[in-house]
Amino acid sequence: MALERLWAPWRLEYVQHADEQDGCIFCRAAESRGDEEQLVVHRGERAFVMLNKFPYASGHLLVAPYRHGPNFGELDDDEALEIHRLGAEGLDALRAVYAPDGFNLGWNIGRIAGVGIPDHGHLHVVPRWAGDTNFMPVLADVKVIPEHLLATRAKLADAWPR
Ligand SMILES: [Zn+2]
Repeated sequence: MALERLWAPWRLEYVQHADEQDGCIFCRAAESRGDEEQLVVHRGERAFVMLNKFPYASGHLLVAPYRHGPNFGELDDDEALEIHRLGAEGLDALRAVYAPDGFNLGWNIGRIAGVGIPDHGHLHVVPRWAGDTNFMPVLADVKVIPEHLLATRAKLADAWPR
């Protein structure tokens, strides 16, 4: 039950925003030079980190390979390792900026599981605070996010551990 509630937000997000998306947001961010505009927090060699535009919480990160196509089971070894490492660095950056009480990390695979951006796999890194489950019913509402996304991006980029 708790798990179902936890992952439901991304299903809502998909329902609300799937029709608004033009192309692949990950490919657009990967190819762009405008990290701020694209909300890219950090770039690695084979993968990069960006903010979720429709975040569940301040600092909700998405870690994706540059390559369009692979999901969790299809990443090559270098991509899998780098996404793991970038996720771990994301925890450090989020700890430094927001001091969360915990995190949820996970992959949504298939539209039924909440995937709103088909065919470009990504790892969700979501900071959690004690009591934040109280906000579950309004998770997908951007208005509940207390800090502007650009400010969040700048803070996390500055706090990135390397
Ligand atoms: Zn893509």
